[in-house]
Amino acid sequence: MFAPLLYFNDMKELKDRILSDGVALEGGILKVDSFINHQMDPQLMMNIAREFVRRFEAHTIDKIITIEASGIAPAILVGYILNKPVLFVKKSVPSTMSDMICTEVFSFTKNRSYTVSVSRKYISAGEKLLFIDDFLANGNAAKGVAEIVSKAGATLVGMGFIIEKGFQQGRKTLAHLDLQIESLAIIESLDNCQIKIR
Ligand code: 5GP
Repeated sequence: MFAPLLYFNDMKELKDRILSDGVALEGGILKVDSFINHQMDPQLMMNIAREFVRRFEAHTIDKIITIEASGIAPAILVGYILNKPVLFVKKSVPSTMSDMICTEVFSFTKNRSYTVSVSRKYISAGEKLLFIDDFLANGNAAKGVAEIVSKAGATLVGMGFIIEKGFQQGRKTLAHLDLQIESLAIIESLDNCQIKIR
């Protein structure tokens, strides 16, 4: 689709932005509210999506899956480039929808478990899905999505995260899935509220 050499991007733009505009909070939380999680930078987000497409170009992808809310922006741009539908997992079980596939996810930022769900209508057995999200921390959200995809009889071909907190357990949590996992920026440490990028 694109010439890889012309197109190579080490995401310096993203890493520079994390260093200039990200804020490290006590407790190992990185705030990126000014360009990813609240206000969003569409040019940066499109470059992020292009890089995900480049990294997963070896796979057949039928659909993009993400989890609300912060995964939706990068996921929809990946879906736009690939011309594939984008499905977001809901962080609740809507009373108006029936035949939902559900699982429990533990939230690191909220320190509690919640039920996530998708309608069985939108994942078919045999489909190949690419999961896109903003953060990989302990991998609980991603693990929940992998469970939902598996319950539907579909297959995950890979997982792409904008930011991975390399000092948390996400990689280990997801290792058993044996998937291609790509993170565009890996945070080495947030110790003393200083952001260090690998
Ligand atoms: P996990 O399930 O991998 O532990 O955490 C993934 C989710 O938690 C992400 O989708 C993100 O919403 C949230 N999260 C975890 N750590 C951070 C963080 O340091 N900063 C922000 N903004 N969100 C985080």
